[in-house]
Amino acid sequence: MNSSVTQLQSQSALRDRLDRPMRDLRISVIDRCNYRCPYCMPAEIYGESYRFLPRAHWLTPGEIRRLAGLFVGLGVNKLRITGGEPLLRRDLDEIVAGLAGLEGVEDLALTTNGTRLAERAAELREAGLKRITVSLDSLDEAVCRTMNGGRGDVATVLEGIDAARAAGFEPIKVNAMVQRGINDRTVVDLIEHFRGTGIIVRFIEYMDVGTLNGWQAGEVVSSKVLLDRIAARWPLEALESNYRGEVAKRYAFTDGQGEIGFISSVSEPFCGDCHRSRLSAEGTLYTCLFANRGTDLREPLRAGVSDADLVGLLQNVWRNRADRYSELRGEKITREQRVEMYRMGG
Ligand code: SAM
Ligand code: SF4
Ligand code: SF4
Repeated sequence: MNSSVTQLQSQSALRDRLDRPMRDLRISVIDRCNYRCPYCMPAEIYGESYRFLPRAHWLTPGEIRRLAGLFVGLGVNKLRITGGEPLLRRDLDEIVAGLAGLEGVEDLALTTNGTRLAERAAELREAGLKRITVSLDSLDEAVCRTMNGGRGDVATVLEGIDAARAAGFEPIKVNAMVQRGINDRTVVDLIEHFRGTGIIVRFIEYMDVGTLNGWQAGEVVSSKVLLDRIAARWPLEALESNYRGEVAKRYAFTDGQGEIGFISSVSEPFCGDCHRSRLSAEGTLYTCLFANRGTDLREPLRAGVSDADLVGLLQNVWRNRADRYSELRGEKITREQRVEMYRMGG
C-alpha cells in the first residue's frame, strides 16, 4: 500500500454513506488529564481511585505514526493531537516528530489546556508541530477554577501561550467553552485581552458529549447570542471559511484588530461537511464525537496485520459511516452509552 497510485485510487474512492471524504484525523494520545473540567471529566467520577488505561495500552509513537500514515494514504491531510491532556505524555515530542515526518500532512496541530506548555512549547516546535490551540474558558480566576475542577490557574496558561508565541507558533488559537451562568459573562473580557494580539479566540457551544456531564439544553449559550453581544461592543464582519468543512465560523473586527470564531455544533450542526475521524489513545477508531462504539485497531496492529489489511479495515469503517448526531440531536438519540470525549479525543 505504499505506491502513490494505490493511494490516489483510495483517495478518490473513499467516501462515507453521506458522500463525505475523510480529511481530518484527531489523535488522542492519552486518556488522563490534570484538570477535572465538570463538563468533560467531573471530579466526583474521575477521583483518585479511577482506573485510566494502563500505559501498555497506549499506542506507541511508532504505532501512531504507522496508523496515521495509513489514514493519510486514504485522504487525510490534517492531523490534530489531543487527549485527555496530551502534554502529560512524556514522549509527545517523539509522537510529533513521527507525524511531522509523514508525507502528505498539510497541517499538524495540538489542543492543550496549556498548563504544561511553558516548559514544552519550544521542544514541540522543534519536533515539527505547526499549530497550537489552547483551551482557556475564562480569565476570571474563580470562574476558571470552577471550570477546571479547581486544578489550575489562569497565569500558568497565559505563560504557556506566551511560550508558544516565543517558540514561533502562529497563529495561536484560544478555545473557550461557554456554559450559561458559569462563564458567559466573561467572554467579553477574554476578547478584550486577546484582541489585537494576533491570537484568535473561538467560542464553543457546550455540547452533550459523553454521558457524565449532566448536560442540559438550557446551559447552552448559542453563538448567535454571543455574536450579538460581542458585535454590540466591537463591530464585526463575517469572513469566508478557510476551507470546506471548517468548523468555526469566522468574524473579523472591522477596526482591523484580528478575528474571532464560533463553533456552533448545537445550534448550527455541521455534520454535512464533517470529514473527521478520531483515534483514541488505545487505538480505537471513532467516526463521530457522539459515537457509542468504535473499531479496535490496536489488536490487529499488535497481531502483525499488514498495512493492506489495516487499510481495508479503515476503508470498510469509513464507507459504512452514516453519523450525523448533531443534526439529529433531540430527534431520536438517547443519552445512553456514549463514549466520553476525553477518551476518544476532543
Ligand atoms: N485537554 C485538552 C484541552 O482541554 O484542550 C484537549 C482535550 S479537550 C477534550 C478538547 C476540547 O474539548 C477543549 O477545548 C474543551 O473545552 C472541549 N470540550 C470538552 N468537553 C466539552 C463539552 N461538553 N462541550 C464542548 N466542548 C467541550
Ligand atoms: Fe482535561 Fe481537556 Fe477534558 Fe478539561 S476539557 S478535563 S482539560 S481533557
Ligand atoms: Fe461530525 Fe458527529 Fe459532530 Fe456530526 S455530530 S459534526 S458527524 S462528529
